[in-house]
Amino acid sequence: GEIVDLKKRIEEAGMPEGTLKVALKELDRYEKLPSAAAESGIIRNYIEWLVTIPWSESTEDRLDIKHAEDVLDRDHDGLETVKERVLEYLAVRQMTHSLRGPILCLVGPPGVGKTSLAKSIAESLDRKFVRISLGGVRDESEIRGHRRTYVGAMPGRIIQGMKKAGTVNPVFLLDEIDKMSSDFRGDPSSAMLEVLDPEQNNSFSDHYIEETYDLSNVLFIATANDLSSIPGPLRDRMEVISIAGYTEAEKGMIAKNHLAPKQLKEHGLTDEQLHFTDEGLLNIVRYYTREAGVRGLERQIASICRKVTKEIVSGEKAKVEVDAPKVEKYLGKRKFRYGMAETENQVGVATGLAYTAVGGDTLQIEVSLSPGKGKLQLTGKLGDVMKESAQTALSFVRSKAEELGIDPMFYETQDIHIHVPEGAVPKDGPSAGITIATALVSALTKRPIRREVGMTGEITLRGRVLPIGGVKEKTLSAHRAGLKTIILPLDNERDIEDIPESVRQELTFKLVSQADEALEIAL
Ligand code: ATP
Ligand code: MG
Repeated sequence: GEIVDLKKRIEEAGMPEGTLKVALKELDRYEKLPSAAAESGIIRNYIEWLVTIPWSESTEDRLDIKHAEDVLDRDHDGLETVKERVLEYLAVRQMTHSLRGPILCLVGPPGVGKTSLAKSIAESLDRKFVRISLGGVRDESEIRGHRRTYVGAMPGRIIQGMKKAGTVNPVFLLDEIDKMSSDFRGDPSSAMLEVLDPEQNNSFSDHYIEETYDLSNVLFIATANDLSSIPGPLRDRMEVISIAGYTEAEKGMIAKNHLAPKQLKEHGLTDEQLHFTDEGLLNIVRYYTREAGVRGLERQIASICRKVTKEIVSGEKAKVEVDAPKVEKYLGKRKFRYGMAETENQVGVATGLAYTAVGGDTLQIEVSLSPGKGKLQLTGKLGDVMKESAQTALSFVRSKAEELGIDPMFYETQDIHIHVPEGAVPKDGPSAGITIATALVSALTKRPIRREVGMTGEITLRGRVLPIGGVKEKTLSAHRAGLKTIILPLDNERDIEDIPESVRQELTFKLVSQADEALEIAL
């Protein structure tokens, strides 16, 4: 009966010797307990876990770089350097005959293809793919499980993932590793350290399973939006590949070759019934999305597919071609303006370039003056570092007032209000220094700022411009917003190489080492 059956499953599970002994002992206890005993169910459950998690079942690796390249290319447009890095990573693994080594971590804004790349990697290796989300995990026991004595105890997410995989060597995606936090119940990141450490992960311990479990054949890949919120020791274990976001042209290609076909299929439509023109797709990109990735774009395409499906099912139409005007018909009024955020040169409004967890973005910095006594007011949910850089910018302007053509006593008669609109994105970091200084000088001299100029750079009290991060992301967002001239710190010159050629050609880069040079360009 049941016992014989379980015994057979235990013996066939391929467990290590020690674990096998434990399982048989538990089976023995189970057999002796009356089935009504509360403990009976608990033991039964435990044995069930032991026999269902994979102990020896594995897939054979296909270590074939050419094949991997084909799969990556088939599923993804663009991302040339990213794909190259992934292939290098796999090549090293192939050379060393081992998939051990640093964990890959794909970092970038939402919807740039991190999860999708990881899936392709699994497919190219002929491995099973599992994914767990670490977002919101605050408790070590979510990773490692609860002891069996705990009511309703279960293994943690790692073991659950392994059960889902059914093999000992899946590609295991740890999504949102940057969104773990810790509280009084213990730090999940220390458990993750054990998971990711090739020296330790052949004997991973889960509180529920109790027996050690070998994770050393798993290929872990992590994803994160924001590298800086991953705890240092974890970050040190990973080989980071960053994905910056797509240009307009790349989004168009991705929509045409991947997103539209995928959505058509999901809606059971043929290309005959619904066809998107290139121009139609470009319109969706420009007027209905504003993002580094393509998630919103995919959602808009899906929305059109739903509407067209309804028209076809109801017999209203037999086929639809979605061109630019049709996009507006299906998606309603345009959501975003394409091109310059401000249509005229304005006094006291400068365009900065920000780098956030969701990619680059442009942001307007507004300065207004009112009669008063030099009070500085800052609004728009600014972080502390940004507030400091506003102070620094103001001090710089004060010390250089005369040279800049400003009444040196300006702060005795006026209050200054610096505002950064568009509230949702948290704004911090020192890189707006130069933008704030420009907006201040513009407001104080009443000279308008050229609207097609965007800028980024930290400034010092003496007006030196210091390098900043995220040049590529910031530049892509500037391009998206239709800016023409980008002011960057001279020390960031090298980063310009990373910007896609098509974007570089449409922008003029001005490298500055002093704030005066930036003012010269912008005013
Ligand atoms: P998140 O941070 O929100 O998890 P993500 O980076 O994991 O985002 P994915 O889910 O991989 O994003 O991508 C979103 C969608 O866009 C998927 O349907 C994916 O296939 C598609 N996609 C993203 N980048 C590309 C690309 N370069 N080529 C083709 N399709 C892409
Ligand atoms: Mg993802």
